Amino acid sequence: MSDLTSVERERILAKSALFNPPEATLPDGRRELVGLSREELVAELAALGEKPFRAKQLWHWIYHQGVTDFAAMTSIAGPMRAKLAERFTVGRPEAATVQTSADETRKWLFRWRDGQEVETVYIPDRHADRGAVCISTQVGCTLSCRFCHTGTQKLVRNLGAAEIVGQFMAARDSYGEWPSPKDDQPRLLSTIVVMGMGEPLYNYENTAKALRIIMDGEGIGLSRRRITLSTSGVVPMMDRCGQELGVNLAVSLHAVTDELRDEIVPLNRKYPIQELLDACRRYPGASNARRITFEYVMLRGVNDSEAEARELVRLLQGIPAKINLIPFNPWPGSPYQTSTYEQTAKFAAILNDAGYSSPIRRPRGRDILAACGQLKTESERTRRVSA
Ligand code: SAH
Ligand code: SF4
Repeated sequence: MSDLTSVERERILAKSALFNPPEATLPDGRRELVGLSREELVAELAALGEKPFRAKQLWHWIYHQGVTDFAAMTSIAGPMRAKLAERFTVGRPEAATVQTSADETRKWLFRWRDGQEVETVYIPDRHADRGAVCISTQVGCTLSCRFCHTGTQKLVRNLGAAEIVGQFMAARDSYGEWPSPKDDQPRLLSTIVVMGMGEPLYNYENTAKALRIIMDGEGIGLSRRRITLSTSGVVPMMDRCGQELGVNLAVSLHAVTDELRDEIVPLNRKYPIQELLDACRRYPGASNARRITFEYVMLRGVNDSEAEARELVRLLQGIPAKINLIPFNPWPGSPYQTSTYEQTAKFAAILNDAGYSSPIRRPRGRDILAACGQLKTESERTRRVSA
């Protein structure tokens, strides 16, 4: 790895710290325990003179049992529970709204203590009792992809680890899925896609901390194979993500030439297609069993020609890949239209003939505007209208 990349990585981390979330202490002085790493939890308790096993007990109650009330933590003696409740809290984000679509997609607008809001979506699998929770990592986004509504909103701030884990925990509350199911048991909330608002690799530290909590086997215990992180291509952070977290990777490619990608995914000017694909080639854990997902939003007359499909096949040569063709989800004032069904089918056929699995993602939750990567549109608009 070149030095330039590590310098760049440091710069990204320093910059992301400027958008830190608010302190994890409530106005009444109690400390939020959700979002602390195991080591931090041990340290908090050590400060009270408690041994590390206490942290283990708490971890179990918080992340395995999903309990928010210290009084329910029955393996801990009464006086100790009272002492913990005085100093700490186990919270959940406040759901400002919850909507369930006719197709069972559910969308929450979560409001944080500083009044900022993000959306989280549960997308059930149509054929089985499982589904994906799509979580957000930032309020807004610094990048301005032309087809993305989040990209029209400035970055307000990063979400903290507590806020990222909290989205999944609140979703579980909503479906009554506590205690955490064992790995082989069926569960409704079976996977996480980090594809909501924001660029997770521009909020790496908080995202990584949250995902480590989620993957911890004594708590929520979701395996890294059930988590997919989507990036628009922050090359210097992709290596770290692979080495440290080993989650599945999805890359928002959307174009096959730098000329077009520069325009629709402006981050491409910094990390052009070849560099991005090199980072994919060296992504740890990528194999035929664990392919990298390439997301490709179908924009009518912009990136959807058959020549572009063939070029995509050429570009991805040698990368264990699958391709997700996403119908463009329009928003008020958006400059594109989605490709016709016929054109999308032609595009997909070329990929299929080349041996790629390339499902055409059907829009879900349309009636509640719940498509991943397309979040918060309606709430913002309603607010503007009513303001
Ligand atoms: N910032 C990350 C993750 C959030 S966006 C990223 O860009 O990958 C998640 C996905 O939704 C991306 O593939 C993004 O390109 C896609 N997306 C954004 N706006 C969309 C829209 N209007 N219609 C369809 N897909 C969109
Ligand atoms: Fe940000 Fe992803 Fe939207 Fe691009 S597509 S503006 S990176 S959230």
